[in-house]
Amino acid sequence: MTTVGILGGGQLARMLALSGAPLGLRFLVLDSVADACAAQFAPLLQADYRDQAALAEFAARVDVVTFDFENVPAESAGWLAERVPVFPSPRALAVAQDRMAEKTLFRDLGIPVPPFAAVDSRETLDAALAAIGTPCILKTRRLGYDGKGQFRLRGPADADAAWAALGAQAGTVGLILEGFVAFQRELSVVAVRSREGELRAWPLTENWHVDGILSASLAPASAEPGLQRQALEAAGKVAAALDYVGVFALELFLRDGVLLANEMAPRVHNSGHWTIEGAETSQFQNHLRAVLGLPLGEVRPLGHSCMLNWIGELPPAAPVLAEPGGHWHDYGKSPRAGRKVGHATLRADDPQELAAALERVGRALGRQAQVAPVAARLRGA
Ligand code: ATP
Ligand code: MG
Ligand code: MG
Repeated sequence: MTTVGILGGGQLARMLALSGAPLGLRFLVLDSVADACAAQFAPLLQADYRDQAALAEFAARVDVVTFDFENVPAESAGWLAERVPVFPSPRALAVAQDRMAEKTLFRDLGIPVPPFAAVDSRETLDAALAAIGTPCILKTRRLGYDGKGQFRLRGPADADAAWAALGAQAGTVGLILEGFVAFQRELSVVAVRSREGELRAWPLTENWHVDGILSASLAPASAEPGLQRQALEAAGKVAAALDYVGVFALELFLRDGVLLANEMAPRVHNSGHWTIEGAETSQFQNHLRAVLGLPLGEVRPLGHSCMLNWIGELPPAAPVLAEPGGHWHDYGKSPRAGRKVGHATLRADDPQELAAALERVGRALGRQAQVAPVAARLRGA
């Protein structure tokens, strides 16, 4: 019997555990909170990620370690890796934890990126602003997610406000200034690399964000084959450079036919949730196969899928379940503003059919604004 240890017990760990059940896998989740939603399906070891005794117990009880959460302290991941196989490696994790390190890696690999510079003082902010220009975004280097820890500067006069908002973190998590990309679309590529170095990527996915949080994903994105190749090439370079094992996502901005890399996620990714019903093999199943050294599954899409994120609270499930290709995911979390509490995936063989299903669900749930850009894309806008 194989036990997979997961650091972090959120919805990603929960969906990994659900997807591993048919493989006969057992799981153990390490999380600092007692109500981690993965604990509804997997035993929970509740402890701080730095707790040595807990890490020792965790290492003793699992055969392999992986992550639901990329902000696990690098020292803890390193300590575990000396005792049990850890995938992705602590080095890959360390790069993905730091926006400066990941953007530097992308640039060194020849992957287009927005202009960026490290900021560690008010003087370096002014210098970076002079070099990059406005509009731009000041971000924390570490620990940001769902658009938290970011400040947008429209002009040089916003420097004071940006520094007031984030300057205190310059000496702790560090800051980075990035040029603002006037992108036409946001896309992501979710890929998996095996222990032997085989790479497979699901089709490019188009993503829509609201207030910095993913709202909807459409796959396959309507994109020329050239873009799919660009994305696959970028993913392959990053994965090879990090000797990456498991699933990861590259978030991309499409501007004038070029894909610029925004960030990578060293784990299964929200923009890959559609693969549960919309692909031959899901990102969760393939991540487990990769970290366990099992053959990877096919990643081809089954028709067209749209994932809708439920943020804050769950709407009623019935209108989604009434659709022929409607699928519901309730993460078992209590409602809270800005929290990802579930998602729905609508799948159809035909893009027009999917657009119609989205519009019906949007009307029934009063979520017309959430589905509208996706339906418009499917209708060829
Ligand atoms: P996630 O939840 O995806 O981890 P995050 O907090 O790490 O988010 P980013 O992905 O860097 O943050 O930014 C959130 C969103 O803000 C992006 O998806 C994009 O819509 C917008 N954004 C971020 N950086 C830029 C940029 N340089 N130019 C234009 N838009 C940007
Ligand atoms: Mg991020
Ligand atoms: Mg992001």
